[in-house]
Amino acid sequence: MLLSTRAACVIGWPIRHSRSPLIHGYWIRQHGLDADYRREAVEPAAFADFVRNLSAHGYTGANVTIPHKEMALELSEPDDRARAVGAANTLWLDGGRLRSTNTDVEGFTANLDDAVPGWAQRSGDALVLGAGGSARAVVYGLIERGVARINVVNRTIDRANELARRFGPAVQPADWSALPGLLSNTSLLVNTTSLGMTGQPPLEIDLGPLPAHAIVTDLVYAPLKTSLLGAAEARGLATADGLGMLLHQAVRGFELWFGVRPQVTSELRKLVETDLTK
Ligand code: NAP
Repeated sequence: MLLSTRAACVIGWPIRHSRSPLIHGYWIRQHGLDADYRREAVEPAAFADFVRNLSAHGYTGANVTIPHKEMALELSEPDDRARAVGAANTLWLDGGRLRSTNTDVEGFTANLDDAVPGWAQRSGDALVLGAGGSARAVVYGLIERGVARINVVNRTIDRANELARRFGPAVQPADWSALPGLLSNTSLLVNTTSLGMTGQPPLEIDLGPLPAHAIVTDLVYAPLKTSLLGAAEARGLATADGLGMLLHQAVRGFELWFGVRPQVTSELRKLVETDLTK
């Protein structure tokens, strides 16, 4: 019997910048699958129709990126993670049902598991910089892993307050001016802002007050080593970078569409690193 090629795609507008085809293409080759993963540039007005007819377009599932993640949530049956985060980045057809999840949650926690095993057991609070879409995934992941107190510092305090309303008393909103005073009891510092990204203003923090067992992680992956991660390394602190999260968040989608759970290998990391730096 001839089985037809299974295919998934990443849907966005624009979509040229996406590294997802590189990542999934590597795993398809590594596992010798008869499968395909493509880019689909779909403008906002056409998104609902495209997703409702995913199967007719030849797809068993899809990644969804800017600006469609909230709409993807509305059009699908979300799991707890996507619902809590308020955005879906991964869709799959399950019989006739279109289901969704948000893999940034496990991308964040799996990357920390890989880089700093036992990270969630270190004593102290988590300190999350930023209160945008990725901060919601990070906070949900921290709560899932039992972190009892998460201080959220954001330029616009209303957005930090909104995170506290969404996720409950584990989340403590704070103004940027409170940051220096929070560091000495911080065991995990997470940058979810776009500060430090190529073309954006720098993220300038004196990491001096952090305890020696603190871990620093940055969601920004361009540049690969942000100045925050450089400063943490210079202090001898454990770190986890944004590229690791990007790779780990892709694992679940591949498994859902193609039935194989892939590994984040050093070879894959090198491949994407080379692409990011060219
Ligand atoms: P977002 O929803 O637009 O949120 C941006 C955040 O950055 C907000 O908290 C915003 O504060 C803050 N911010 C922006 N400019 C600032 C400035 N000049 N000063 C202080 N704060 C500023 O974006 P997002 O989706 O959360 O993404 C944030 C970053 O994470 C991006 O660099 C993205 O590439 C990266 N990311 C990486 C991964 C990964 O897999 N590694 C996954 C998702 C996202 P206000 O609320 O005050 O505007």
